[in-house]
Amino acid sequence: MVFCEVCGFGYAEDEKEDVIDHNIYHQNFLMLQEKYGADYIMKSKVEEAIKLTGHNLHNADYPLAIRLSGAKLCLKSWFSRSAISYGSEHPSFEEYVAMRLKQNIDQLPNLLPFTDDILEHLISQYGLKEGMDQHCYSYYQN
Ligand SMILES: [Zn+2]
Repeated sequence: MVFCEVCGFGYAEDEKEDVIDHNIYHQNFLMLQEKYGADYIMKSKVEEAIKLTGHNLHNADYPLAIRLSGAKLCLKSWFSRSAISYGSEHPSFEEYVAMRLKQNIDQLPNLLPFTDDILEHLISQYGLKEGMDQHCYSYYQN
């Protein structure tokens, strides 16, 4: 088992299907990094680290600005996973956040693990947007 240093995909170099799966994932990963920026499309290990950092900053007894930055790190990590699962027709980060905020109000109440003051700030920055249900499963991942 090897892990690609660029995209983080783990595969067996001597398995033909694995190599093909990696090539597909790798090309998709590079295309998405080009489209959304390298800060927004991450290897899964980086996603996990960013998400953990985000949760720690959000949950701690820190000032609002720090907790807000933690919430945004969580959202970036989820965005990365969602875009990689969905592909190039995925909405922008700003649209994605607005859709998750809307979903959190009227489809899946309180799915987002953020406090009310953080949610209010996010809504005032990103707004609310319909459309999450058209884009199915990949958006729900925590
Ligand atoms: Zn790769």
